[in-house]
Amino acid sequence: MTDPHVTDPRRATPRADAVLADPRLQEAARRLGTAAVKRVVATTLDRCRAGEIAPGDVVPQAVADLPRHATALRRVVNATGVVVHTNLGRAPLSAAAVEALGVVAGTTDVELDLATGRRARRGRSAMAALAAAVPDAGAVHVVNNGAAALALVTCALASGREIVVARGELVEIGDGFRIPELLESLGARLREVGTTNRVRLADYAAAVGERTAFVLKVHPSNFVVSGFTSSVAISELASLPVPVVADIGSGLLTPHPRLPDEPSAASALRAGADLVTASGDKLLGGPQCGLMLGRADLVEALRRHPFARALRVDKLTLAALEATLTGPPAPVVTALSTSPAVLLERAEAVAARLSPTVDAAAVPSRAAVGGGGAPEVALPSAAVSLPAHLAGPLRLDPDQPVMGRVERGRLLLDLIAVPAEDDALLVDAVLRVASHRDLPDPA
Ligand SMILES: *Cc1c(COP(=O)(O)O)cnc(C)c1O
Repeated sequence: MTDPHVTDPRRATPRADAVLADPRLQEAARRLGTAAVKRVVATTLDRCRAGEIAPGDVVPQAVADLPRHATALRRVVNATGVVVHTNLGRAPLSAAAVEALGVVAGTTDVELDLATGRRARRGRSAMAALAAAVPDAGAVHVVNNGAAALALVTCALASGREIVVARGELVEIGDGFRIPELLESLGARLREVGTTNRVRLADYAAAVGERTAFVLKVHPSNFVVSGFTSSVAISELASLPVPVVADIGSGLLTPHPRLPDEPSAASALRAGADLVTASGDKLLGGPQCGLMLGRADLVEALRRHPFARALRVDKLTLAALEATLTGPPAPVVTALSTSPAVLLERAEAVAARLSPTVDAAAVPSRAAVGGGGAPEVALPSAAVSLPAHLAGPLRLDPDQPVMGRVERGRLLLDLIAVPAEDDALLVDAVLRVASHRDLPDPA
């Protein structure tokens, strides 16, 4: 703080153009845009005029206050123990997918055949990778997300017609969005069968008629119904004289040994589904997109439908999806296969580096798959247990925000969804926030 009696801060405040001419701010303007840098400089000059900063500190302060990137979104370490966390952007991309984004970010042959110089099928290598990953699919198509996949199926096959669906499968996906309302908003009529807890094949058979476009089977990916329940398997629905569309949600392409109740595209198709829809950014571990796999004639009808153009994915999605399918295992896949013993060893190593300074201990933990599926499955995991009052400061750490979860009065940093190479980031972040003396300590 400058003493206002020594200098008049208003007269000593440097001129904006002089500050902006500083090479560090010039470089920042090239990287972040002139407007962003000007905003920071204007705020800093206001503080100088108010006497909060010395004139000589204006440039260094503005440099320190610059945004790091041209997006205000931050990289956040997911130590929540929820592997697919919707509020944290669902699946983190693999290094191979991130690299692919860089390759195609400029101009790319996404829709051009370099051999002939002519137009080619858009995203053909990503489609080929998806088709190769699920040989049971006659054809495949990709749209913006799982909801868009369902929307396209509804528009193309069920506009003005009926979709037969079990009452117990009328799912709200999240944030107030409901699958039945989505389908009805596109001109389909829902023919609900069964009760909340039970439905039989005979219920479906009685409802199927002239106006039926398809039977829809929706996987309950975010809830469980237990007790006196029954549902009808895809293999039974396949005996009905109409197509069966299965919304499997999670995007597992093949069965996962740790998630035996989670349907996969391959198993649904093998059981007799005519079309499968799924998200790309849940258990598949790829970019946000909606996968559609199944009978070639149906997929072709979807692909050719006018509405398909409104749901088209961009080159970034196609490249990241292809790399997810063909590259090394995605982080979500790795997280699901890491043994709790390995996680506990990592938690012990992190706690050991912290405990001279902070009250830290390695503890076993129960993690969850998350919005992506397997609602009742507890994944054995391990966490670093810390004082709960560190939760807020860790989220707000300017260098590396970390999101944990508070459980029984302790902050747990669960390691299941933290790549091993990020353990050092966690250690640094905790030591940084713990060294701030002004932390409110409720103890
Ligand atoms: C997640 C999910 C959806 C929606 O998919 P988005 O990719 O979020 O649009 C639809 N159905 C089921 C069963 C889901 O689990």
